[in-house]
Order: sequence, then structure tokens, then C-alpha cells
Amino acid sequence: MPSERQAVVVIGAGHNGLVAACYLARAGFPPLVLERRAVVGGSTVTEELMPGFRCPAVAHTASSLFWRIARELQLEKRGLAMISPEVRVLALNPEGRSLHICQDHGRTVGELMRISGHDAQKYAEFHRNLAQVRRVAAPLLSMTPPDMDHLKIGDYLNIGKLGLKFRDLDKKDAYRLLRWGPMAVADLVSEWFESGLLRATIAARGIFGAFAGPWSAGTSLGVLLQAAADGYAVAPALFAKGGAGAITEALVKVATATGVRIRKNAAVTGIRVKDGQATVWYCPAEKRFPRLRSYPVPIPGTRSSSWWTRLLWIRTF
Ligand SMILES: Cc1cc2nc3c(=O)[nH]c(=O)nc-3n(C[C@H](O)[C@H](O)[C@H](O)COP(=O)(O)OP(=O)(O)OC[C@H]3O[C@@H](n4cnc5c(N)ncnc54)[C@H](O)[C@@H]3O)c2cc1C
Repeated sequence: MPSERQAVVVIGAGHNGLVAACYLARAGFPPLVLERRAVVGGSTVTEELMPGFRCPAVAHTASSLFWRIARELQLEKRGLAMISPEVRVLALNPEGRSLHICQDHGRTVGELMRISGHDAQKYAEFHRNLAQVRRVAAPLLSMTPPDMDHLKIGDYLNIGKLGLKFRDLDKKDAYRLLRWGPMAVADLVSEWFESGLLRATIAARGIFGAFAGPWSAGTSLGVLLQAAADGYAVAPALFAKGGAGAITEALVKVATATGVRIRKNAAVTGIRVKDGQATVWYCPAEKRFPRLRSYPVPIPGTRSSSWWTRLLWIRTF
């Protein structure tokens, strides 16, 4: 039976679950993390695919890692080291000159000059515009999504702050933001650039991880939101030394050092909330006829807090 201070269960030890567990522990609620697989990390794992060959099994870049989180959790002190090559993307061209997009804007513009003077000038202008639009879009990435059924004062304040940021944009940038969002990314890049290679390189960010093609409506939003995180139209080349699993390993060290318990081979099959108590049911995933185990979580008072994807947080006050 868990003590009241431990009455938090995180389901799934992917990197998001582990980050949530670390923050919960820092706030004084070290949770129990239940993970279905025998390894933790979800998609962020480095595995030995062939004897002697270890590589990232699914996610391979760390470009969407929030640096604020890495800093706050001091992942570097737990062994996380990053590799950031100067060249973000090398776009090969079977018919001619290839294109390097570099960390340094000046170098990229110099590269582009060799392909198209028009695109070199537009690339710099495009980034100036992105920087403006980013001021509105960036807060969306770290903002807690409002519970639309029970809006709180903080939610109204957040929406108000966003509105003010939008109002601060000059008219042209505000118009661009409204217009770009719903556009197909292929249209967006054709409006700005003439080189097919540069168009494709930027459009790729819009469809990365999306079940959509460059002509799908709304794919420009993918570029805008990702650029909001780092200010670039093209994804950064950022890798964890040792593969993406190194991020997980560092997170596990932080989590366990702060009192988080991680139970592997524990697939959650259901959550029942009844009479002021939640019960999380789990069992070993690989067994054909597994014996179900339960983890009761008392709910002081009667109301459980919001359900949010797979994270169950039972209020303990
Ligand atoms: C092909 C592909 C490539 C990608 N490449 C990248 C990349 O290079 N860089 C990048 O930043 N992002 C990449 N992503 C996106 C990234 O993988 C996801 O955003 C990230 O994995 C989400 O993390 P998560 O912790 O929310 O979920 P997941 O990583 O999916 O982890 C969920 C965890 O929950 C566990 N789980 C699920 N159900 C249960 C249950 N019932 N009981 C107990 N445990 C359960 C799972 O076993 C898993 O460990 C890629 C995604 C895909 C599909």
C-alpha cells in the first residue's frame, strides 16, 4: 500500500513519462513508474540490434529536447553529452551542386549564393519573419494545455498573454502568422524560394513525423511550431552521444536518485476509480496468462484531478 505522499503513478517510462516523474519527485511526490517493456525509454532507446552494434532504435535526433528541462534536471551531470555538428543538413543533388544548411546563418547564406542569389537574400528575410512569429508561437510549446471543461483563472491569463503577444506583432507579421498556419508547406516554400533543393529541405520539416505530404493543408504549421522551438526553418542536427538512449539513461539516473521507483514488465491494463480510491491494474506484458496486480492509490477528499493522456496524478491535499 503506497503512502499518501507517493500516491502518484506514471504509466509508461518513455522520455515524457520519465521527465514527468523527475518533476513530480522534485515537487515532493516521487511516483511509481510502470513500464510495459523490459527496457525503459519508449522510442528514446539505444539498443543492440545486432551483436556488437548499438544504435538508436526509433528516435535518433535530440533536436526537440527542451534545454530548459535538460538544464533543470542537470542531465549533463548524469552523463548526457551532446554532439552538434556545424552542418545541420546536407541536401544532396544528383543533378548538380549539393546544399549545406549550417548552424551559422551567414555561412548558409554564403552557400546559397552559389545556388541562387534570390534564395540567399530570401533565406535571411524568411528567418527574420520566423523570429517575429516565434514570439507568439514559442510559449505554446511549454504552456500547459487548458482543461476546456474547467477553465481556471490561470488558463484565461495564459490566453490573454498570448493575445497580447499577437497584438504586439506588426500588421504584416500578424497577417503572415494567420495565413501561414493553414497553408500546405509546398506552397509556403514556393512563395519564398526558387531552388527546388532549398524548398524541399525546408518543406521536409513541415512533414517530419506527420502523416501528411508537402501538399497537405496545414503542414506549414509544422515548420512554424518547430521553428518556434529553435528559431530555424531547418531542424538542428543535435545528437546525444551514445544515441537517443543516453537521454533516457540520464533521466533514469535523475529519477532514481530522487526516489522514483520504476517497475519494468508492468503493462497497465486498467484504472478504476471508485469510492475515493483509484486502482491501477498491471501485469507482466509478455506472459500469456499473466496474474494481474493492482496498485491502490488513495484519493484524499473525493475529487481526482484531470486525466491527462497516460499520466495519472491523484491530488494528495
Ligand atoms: C519512427 C519515429 C521516429 C522518430 N524520430 C524522432 C527523433 O529522431 N527525434 C525526436 O525527438 N522524436 C522522434 N520521434 C518522436 C518521438 O519518438 C516521440 O515524440 C516520443 O517517443 C514520445 O515520447 P513519450 O514518452 O510520450 O512516448 P513513448 O516514447 O511512446 O513511450 C511510451 C512508453 O509507455 C509505455 N507504455 C505504453 N502503454 C503502456 C501501458 N499500458 N502500461 C505500461 N507502459 C506502457 C511504452 O512501452 C513506452 O515505453 C519519432 C517517432 C517515430 C514514430
